[in-house]
Amino acid sequence: MRISGTVIADAETIIDDGTVVTADDRIVAVGPRSELRERYPDHPERQFDIVAPGLVGAHIHSVQSLGRGIADDKELLEWLFDHVLPMEAALDEAETEIAAKLGYLECLESGTTTVVDHLTVDHSAQAFEAAGEIGIRGVLGKVLMDKDAPDGLLEATDDGLRKSRKLIDRYHRTHDDRIRYAVTPRFAVTCSEAALRGAREIADEYDAVRIHTHASENRDEIETVREETGMRNIEWLHEVGLTGEDVVLAHCVWTTEEERDILEETDTNVVHCPSSNMKLASGVAPIEEYFQRGITVGLGNDGPPCNNTLDPFTEMRHGSLLAKVDQLNATALPAKMVFEMATRNGAIASGFEDVGALREGWKADLIGLSTDATRTTPVHDVLSHLVFAAHGDDVVFTMVDGEVVYDGKITTLDGDAIRQRARELAASAEY
Ligand SMILES: [Zn+2]
Repeated sequence: MRISGTVIADAETIIDDGTVVTADDRIVAVGPRSELRERYPDHPERQFDIVAPGLVGAHIHSVQSLGRGIADDKELLEWLFDHVLPMEAALDEAETEIAAKLGYLECLESGTTTVVDHLTVDHSAQAFEAAGEIGIRGVLGKVLMDKDAPDGLLEATDDGLRKSRKLIDRYHRTHDDRIRYAVTPRFAVTCSEAALRGAREIADEYDAVRIHTHASENRDEIETVREETGMRNIEWLHEVGLTGEDVVLAHCVWTTEEERDILEETDTNVVHCPSSNMKLASGVAPIEEYFQRGITVGLGNDGPPCNNTLDPFTEMRHGSLLAKVDQLNATALPAKMVFEMATRNGAIASGFEDVGALREGWKADLIGLSTDATRTTPVHDVLSHLVFAAHGDDVVFTMVDGEVVYDGKITTLDGDAIRQRARELAASAEY
């Protein structure tokens, strides 16, 4: 297929009248439209206003999607322990499946083609099945919680690790390597040392399995870890093996100089979730310092109960605006940098080396956008447009692994049926 428009190949490379040529799951050429029309005359052409790499949601919770709006205006630990964890504990197999499908549907409709997805303790297989079926690219993981967890989520250490291995054996690198696994301790507060060290052991046993956890989101969390271990949170994670280039740490809002040194020296990936950090009043992560240190920082929406959407465009906008108001500096976290976070950096964090930019030989993961809306008229600068003016609704076409999964409507599943079932389940739920 030839996919044409103003092509944003990456944050540095914009082709005004360009084309991306795809064949099977790969991009075979990127360049000026007239040239590629001559070289690939038999490929059918689609025309969009903007063609961009698919965005990477480097920290989401698809299975929290049925809990959109259940716990607004709450402090993090109250939000988590009194609302979100009881909701997760209440999810049965069918609800987990619909929640995951609803989350992935929202992602694909709004331009996210790859996710790093923090699932829940039980029924995680439903999310792997859903991701496989709907066509999203993802690194998914069942959650480990073996201490200080509420009823319904607490699990014996060995059970959690054994079930993680089972899921890896069943789903890791399936669907032509579109679906991968991340060992996923919830956070240090609800995981024993044995669980955290066990996560590292599992990741080391398998090729391309990642580790994904929350870290240093909130000051109460850090205090709890300090009381239990005598260390700062990142220092503790480092001590038990949960740092390194295969580790994805969501948040990292409250870190000391010494902890930033650890993140830098170990090439640990950080994921910034600005909407969640604002809504839960967690604080402002030092993103530009992480950038200056060469730490890879991706972007994530976190979950629908703390955002309350999975729209990646809102997240880019919030990321930039939050940095500017925090530093009282309008040049902070400019559009180019935040776009880089939402694309290439997220791809590096997720471990998919050949996504996050439109390059010859790379995976055909891309989106087409319309600029017809009044809100998006006129367009002077496409990167500014994507970060500060566009919404997920402007995405009209989504391709993952060369497959058109969204073309005005989702092509792989029945989107209306998913939304309807989600409404019914939420109406009868007790959370
Ligand atoms: Zn999270």
